[in-house]
Amino acid sequence: MSEERFNELRGEQVVYAIHRQDRTFLPARDHCPLDATRPGGPETEIPVPAFEIAVFDNRFPAFTAPHGAAEVVVYTDDHDGSLATLAPARAEALMWVWRHRYLELGARKDVEYVFIFENRGVEVGVTLHHPHGQIYGYPFLPPVPALELAADARLGGCAPCALLAEELSAGGRLLHQNDGVVAYVPFAARWGYEVHVTMREHRASLAACSAEELRLLAEALQTVVRGFDALFERPFPYVMAVHQAPTGGDRSPSAAGGGHLHVEFYPPLRTAEKLKYLAGSEQGAGTFIGDMLPEESAAELREAIARGA
Ligand SMILES: [Zn+2]
Ligand SMILES: [Zn+2]
Ligand SMILES: [Zn+2]
Repeated sequence: MSEERFNELRGEQVVYAIHRQDRTFLPARDHCPLDATRPGGPETEIPVPAFEIAVFDNRFPAFTAPHGAAEVVVYTDDHDGSLATLAPARAEALMWVWRHRYLELGARKDVEYVFIFENRGVEVGVTLHHPHGQIYGYPFLPPVPALELAADARLGGCAPCALLAEELSAGGRLLHQNDGVVAYVPFAARWGYEVHVTMREHRASLAACSAEELRLLAEALQTVVRGFDALFERPFPYVMAVHQAPTGGDRSPSAAGGGHLHVEFYPPLRTAEKLKYLAGSEQGAGTFIGDMLPEESAAELREAIARGA
């Protein structure tokens, strides 16, 4: 069970999922709950001897039906590796799995916002190393997507469309592009190596993308993560957030508006060894203080992407 309380001073919901304190924490390599179940071995979360991509309900959920959802998406039955090292066809299949979950969870009355994300690395609190991501179906519209809708209203149109046009014309923060997708360090990045991967055309969600666009999205995400890993020649920790149109209210997920599919990466590292901490200014005042300009980190990341290719 979890409990929601409205924090009046912040104007936002806080969710208490107290059972999560007992969740599996960095188990030994041979006790990975996200591995396939070996014949004769202990049963894992996935009771089959081999699989491609697996989705199941989180055993330690922040949300449960009929009041939202929490799912785990395991990218591969290979314990080692990452989003970057998946075969391209597997990464492409992952986009279809995400799309399927967006449509299915988004169609539920108790889900207002489908949020696909990945936490990678102990630096961001990962408790299992096996390559996987998560999906939350929030029973309310969370503050970050609400802020993005407010940006649309402020700019009098789709904010990601407008910002992408600015990035393409400025050029200096671009990292990688293909026919469907553009990756860049945003003009006002909060994290030193923050990267946004945005659909070139206005696409409200994964459901609005063509098969070719989904393939190109997978290609761009893998390219970015390979570049991250090449940057300091170590697995690069990040939080990856997939932002799409909300599905609540009158919106059906297949016709969802008010959103533009993009993927944001928030890496906590500011050097190979130093972490960026959210401290006084960030937590107490809400203002990020960076120590590197987005143009500088973009130049470093472009070089790393070339090395990682
Ligand atoms: Zn594993
Ligand atoms: Zn747009
Ligand atoms: Zn966003």
